[in-house]
Amino acid sequence: MKSTIAENYKRIREEIPEDVSIVVAAKTRTKEEIIEVIDAGAEIIGENYVQEAEKIYQLLGDRAKAVKWHMIGELQKNKINKALRVFDVIETVDSLKKADDINKRAERQERFVRVFIEINIGSEFTKAGVRPEYEAVIELAEHISNLKYLKLNGLMTMGPRAGNPEESRPYFKKTKEFFEKIRALDLPNVEMDYLSMGMSNSYQVAIEEGANMVRLGTVIFGERACSLT
Ligand SMILES: *Cc1c(COP(=O)(O)O)cnc(C)c1O
Repeated sequence: MKSTIAENYKRIREEIPEDVSIVVAAKTRTKEEIIEVIDAGAEIIGENYVQEAEKIYQLLGDRAKAVKWHMIGELQKNKINKALRVFDVIETVDSLKKADDINKRAERQERFVRVFIEINIGSEFTKAGVRPEYEAVIELAEHISNLKYLKLNGLMTMGPRAGNPEESRPYFKKTKEFFEKIRALDLPNVEMDYLSMGMSNSYQVAIEEGANMVRLGTVIFGERACSLT
């Protein structure tokens, strides 16, 4: 018999170490599906699109406020204001300009925003993410460190999309190295707490390589009807 969303979430929660957070990747899922996973104990919901997140957030009522919201898709400039009203963390900061744009709007809303730097590691299919070079990554970390309304709190990477999860291992290792390097700089206003990497097909490998945050959709909800990236 097919297991339910609640069973899937609880099983994975028990399977992985306690200090690893699960971001439930909720794109394309219905209100009912998201309610089921929150009631099963989910604490973080990840959304790729601001409009979809806003809509679900409103539909969920009190449940929306009981969980944290992470932006895991590309954030367009004209959506930043709205995004700041929904999201607790923006995992996809990948340029100096994007950091500046978010900071400016955060200042206007008088809010402090936790952000992760997204590293584009081994994913030829997407342009999202800073190129995986030491200088580029450090430059962005130092830049964010100087922005008053942003707090750098971790790194995120997609890694290669499909295929054998073992093939992702070197990319996860490399991202972990960037993570440790930024941490060692001990920059003001930076707390490198979270390393967000690993998805449904690769989360075990990601955890072995040091991820303490994994983003899971398919293993919890089942296959998506249409494959959005
Ligand atoms: C969809 C998505 C995930 C989850 O992917 P699954 O393979 O369904 O687990 C993780 N991270 C991001 C950025 C995504 O867009």
